[in-house]
Formats: sequence, C-alpha cells, structure tokens
Amino acid sequence: MNVLWLQRLSCCGNTHSLLNCDTFNSLLKEVNFLFHPSLSIENEEEIINKVLEGSLKLDLFILEGAVRINDEKVKELCYTANYVMAVGSCAVYGNIPALKDNYVCGLQYRFKEKGGLLGEDFVSKGGLPVINLSGCPAHPEWIVGVIRSLARGIKPALDSWGRPKEFYSSLTHWGCTRNEYFEWKIEPESLGSKKGCLFYNYGCRGPMTYSSCNTILWNGVNSKTRAGTPCFGCTEFDFPRVGLFETKQFAGLPAELPIGVSKRGYIMLSGIAKMFAPERLKVED
Ligand code: SF4
Repeated sequence: MNVLWLQRLSCCGNTHSLLNCDTFNSLLKEVNFLFHPSLSIENEEEIINKVLEGSLKLDLFILEGAVRINDEKVKELCYTANYVMAVGSCAVYGNIPALKDNYVCGLQYRFKEKGGLLGEDFVSKGGLPVINLSGCPAHPEWIVGVIRSLARGIKPALDSWGRPKEFYSSLTHWGCTRNEYFEWKIEPESLGSKKGCLFYNYGCRGPMTYSSCNTILWNGVNSKTRAGTPCFGCTEFDFPRVGLFETKQFAGLPAELPIGVSKRGYIMLSGIAKMFAPERLKVED
C-alpha cells in the first residue's frame, strides 16, 4: 500500500507520536511511504506531481495539521487517493490554527461544523469519508492500527464524527485507575497525586471524552490521568478550552456532568458517596 503523509499547519506532534510507536518498524514492512516529511529524502513536490499525474498510485493520503480553505493541492490529493486520513485534532477540526483564522479548517470539519476543506458529502474512492483520528496528538497505536487495517483490506467502522469505533467508542474514563475515587467523590491533594479523581477540582474531561487512552496505554504504560494530570478532552471538537486545569462550577455543581448523568442523579449520589466513602481511600499519597 502506498502512503503519502503531508503536513500543513501543524506542530508535528502526530509525527512524533507515530515515531514513538513500538510497532512502527514492522508497519514499514507492510506499507510503502511515498513521502513523509520526517522520514523521506525525496523531494515532496516531485512526489506529489507524480501522484497527481498518475505515475505513482496513491492508496492512502494522510494529512497532519489544519489546512487553509483554498488548499487545492491537498484537495486534489484527497480525490486521487483510495482513502484519506486526518491525523490529529488540527487536521480533523482545524483546532488551534483555526481559532483565530476563519480561513483555516480541518479536512471535513471546522470545529463542530461539518464541511471543512472537502465538504460534508466527501467520500474517497475507497468508499469512506475522511477517517478522522482526533487527538492532540493522536495515539500512536491508533495511527498505526488504522494504516495496518487498510493495508490488509479491512475498512474501519466509523462513528458519526468519522472516527474509528475501535478506538473512539469508549470514554477516557473507562479503564482509569481512579474510578473508585470518582465513585466516592474523593479529590486528589494536588496535581500529580497518585490518589483521588481529577473530575471534581482539576477539570478532568474523562467522563465526557471519547478515546481509548486508558485502555490502550501510551508507550504501553501510562496515560494522563494515571500520571495525575486531567484528561483535556483533546479528541473532541471543542478542544482547546480555557481553564484546562479547573472544573467550572455553577451553584456548587460541575458545569458539565459525565455523559448520561442527570443533574438530579448527580446531586443525590455524590452527596451520599462523599459521606460514606471508605476510610482506606482517604489515606494520603
Ligand atoms: S481522573 Fe478523570 S478519567 Fe479518571 S476517574 Fe476521575 S474523571 Fe474519570
């Protein structure tokens, strides 16, 4: 499978993520990177021209970074490739580069508005919309996993945001080692504490964010919440937000409740939980 990876308005974070993947070397035995800005010595423009002329077949086009709405070259490549993948939240939603520039967007979204560079009805030659791997950056195992699936002829099932369900159908909260503290409403003493749930004071968005960060660990060992830092919700369209380390409150309640939890249910359960929390969970780090 021939893969072309280009960067536009990007910090290269997704490239760093990719290069951290344990299984990246084995992927290189299955796919052929026609061009990648950090791996190739070829001339980018020459490769692009060969692809657009038809002398090089393009199976998968990957974009890292947000694009300007008049980027015809990226558009042409998307219509030439069998499959198109946006890697990282900038390529998916526009994200940070789009915050102060109305002419910047993602491949098929601009924040929550469907459309982006390619329009809401875009479907690639292989029959899929843009495969969106959101995240800041996207997890290396998600990137490599999707490339490998496509190379083996398996199309990923996508959610309503174009994200592969295999990686985005569960909440970050699932698999977090702090779940018991969440249930009993026990807060950590400070950022970096080994105990306590970061939802109540430190703005953790794990219960409102779809990602598999706590079930497919980073570098096989860690995640933000395991390290004592809140989930910032970087896989969702409204990232980044202000006040990443604080829980906004209204009348003593978190402004946003976990997905599926009613205000009434939260008030009833959280009051009781705190009152009856087991002593063993209250011990210091
Ligand atoms: S730290 Fe975040 S992800 Fe972990 S249990 Fe608390 S709310 Fe859920």
